[in-house]
Amino acid sequence: MLKGKTAVVTGSTSGIGLAIARAYAAQGANIVINGFGAPDDIEKERAGIEAEFGVQARYSAADMAHGGAIAVMIAEAEAEFGSVDVLVNNAGIQFVSPIEEFPIEKWDAIIAINLSAAFHATRAALPGMKQRKWGRIINTASAHALVASPFKSAYVAAKHGIAGLTKTVALEAATFGVTVNAICPGYVWTPLVEKQIPDTMAARGLTREQVINDVLLEAQPTKQFVTSEEVADLAVFLASDSAKSITGVILPIDGGWTAH
Ligand code: NAD
Repeated sequence: MLKGKTAVVTGSTSGIGLAIARAYAAQGANIVINGFGAPDDIEKERAGIEAEFGVQARYSAADMAHGGAIAVMIAEAEAEFGSVDVLVNNAGIQFVSPIEEFPIEKWDAIIAINLSAAFHATRAALPGMKQRKWGRIINTASAHALVASPFKSAYVAAKHGIAGLTKTVALEAATFGVTVNAICPGYVWTPLVEKQIPDTMAARGLTREQVINDVLLEAQPTKQFVTSEEVADLAVFLASDSAKSITGVILPIDGGWTAH
């Protein structure tokens, strides 16, 4: 389905982004993976994608906190593969704290990585997509693009911002064969969720089990974590030609969370 196309997936050394990168490679796309991690682990993933799916995979170490590095990542992908056809703005971090104690540098980092990075990457990739009259921009938002939870002020603000960015760019790109959508997962068991458990325990005075069952899964009527593979399958569908009329959508995949 994506043979001859190139997909850049930010934050794809782990979790949801890695699942999306692998799913696009399985559809024949050349891939740019990005994110942090141990160099050996990243190289293993990169080489594994090439070997398993018979595509080309490159790694960009661009830090999503820096707009200049993001523009370079897109330019390098275009130079190497000839185009960036699918852009997934997925990199994200979390920090959990009451707002009175929320560290200012954590606020700045979350807004930069979870929101501004999508602006910088979209700004750099959209001109080529418009010129070729085909493109897919998929923003990994969150159920927190639609509803809030306490102690996540920066994350919820950034994800609501992503929803606004998604709708705006969808309107600007609509006549150019470029769709722009946001996927809004509920809780997916990834390092991002695992890492917030100790802080949530502290902020709410709960045990680990209470956080998992009474905070995380409490929000999700299915009482099950969403899987990265389910999110990746949705990203594949949104990149398909069957989804060409779906644009500007803030799409939950959250086990019913935002139906509340
Ligand atoms: P994860 O921690 O497994 O992966 C995050 C990825 O982002 C990693 O590859 C990491 O290296 C990368 N990253 C972090 N900071 C970066 C930076 N400055 N520059 C480049 N890369 C950076 O987390 P995940 O759960 O897979 O999260 C992926 C996205 O999904 C995030 O945007 C997150 O907000 C969103 N999301 C996650 C959940 C969930 O429950 N896990 C739910 C809704 C939305």
